[in-house]
Amino acid sequence: MVDEIIKKFSKKTESKFFINYNLRKLNWFNIGGKAKFFFKPDNLNELVSFLKEFGKKIDIFILGAGSNILLNDRLYEGVVIKLGKNFSNITLMPNDVIVAGAAASDKKLSDFALNNSISGFEFLSCIPGTIGGGLKINSGCYGKEFKDILLSVQVIEKNTGFIKTIHSSDINFEYRNSDLDDNYIFLSASFKGVKKEKSFIEKEIKILKSKKNFTQPSKIKTGGSTFKNPVDQTTEKVWKLIKRSVPLNTSFGQAAISEKHCNFLINRGNATFEDMLKLIQFIKKEVRLKTGIAIETEIQIIE
Ligand SMILES: Cc1cc2nc3c(=O)[nH]c(=O)nc-3n(C[C@H](O)[C@H](O)[C@H](O)COP(=O)(O)OP(=O)(O)OC[C@H]3O[C@@H](n4cnc5c(N)ncnc54)[C@H](O)[C@@H]3O)c2cc1C
Repeated sequence: MVDEIIKKFSKKTESKFFINYNLRKLNWFNIGGKAKFFFKPDNLNELVSFLKEFGKKIDIFILGAGSNILLNDRLYEGVVIKLGKNFSNITLMPNDVIVAGAAASDKKLSDFALNNSISGFEFLSCIPGTIGGGLKINSGCYGKEFKDILLSVQVIEKNTGFIKTIHSSDINFEYRNSDLDDNYIFLSASFKGVKKEKSFIEKEIKILKSKKNFTQPSKIKTGGSTFKNPVDQTTEKVWKLIKRSVPLNTSFGQAAISEKHCNFLINRGNATFEDMLKLIQFIKKEVRLKTGIAIETEIQIIE
């Protein structure tokens, strides 16, 4: 019944709406099945009316750039929402504050800050996700995280379509986690930087990018760091734990460990969800057996 009403909505909406839409090309692993419904709202009104009508009736998954997710090969029995390009605007405000739409890429925000001689956003040039995905897990690298520059985030509730603004001081951020409710879709966020010489910012970005290129693989099918580093600062980094616990040539089907960085798992071609999941579980088990440490996944596994 709900499916039929959603199909009617799909015919009258001006936004893109697809049925049985393949998600494989929409994530970095290139793994995953189809979504029963795929909705790409062009504007806030379209999103609000969809959520008001269906938010309580169907499962909703929000997709960003797909650089931190592992999707099941099965049909996703709900709606996948990917915010359209009107959610990716970036605006300069007074006092070195920048407001960015949740669908904007981290790189676009970093470039925007650079062009306006605002520092603090350099680390974003190294993260291949969107603002929405970054807020979700408090992404970061080289000592900086989203929480360090965030002032506030505008959210819409999936189950009601109600919009509100949450100040960063009211959010508990942790390493690659936050207590932001899973019921929220992030719409935009405001960030605070500091004025610096453009040449200084450019140099910083260059240094970070070359560090990244030196240590991490690029141009491959991966979800980035698979496991979080242990929170206890005295414990070794997760890649070291993996290196001494797991034969690095371990693979399941086409799911393998990157030769350049063993916390990066890669799809060598046509790896399935099961292949990748087995590899993840195997690594977890071996690390636990050899070191006694229980490691947690950083990537979001959508079963
Ligand atoms: C090569 C490579 C390098 C990487 N390097 C880093 C790094 O240095 N540091 C780091 O932290 N991460 C890194 N990552 C991981 C990833 O890029 C980040 O976690 C990124 O922030 C994820 O954003 P995304 O848009 O791709 O999110 P997705 O993978 O699409 O989604 C991730 C989660 O965020 C949720 N989400 C996305 N958008 C919204 C929204 N608008 N509202 C609510 N929820 C939303 C999704 O539902 C999902 O739960 C790397 C990944 C790759 C492939």
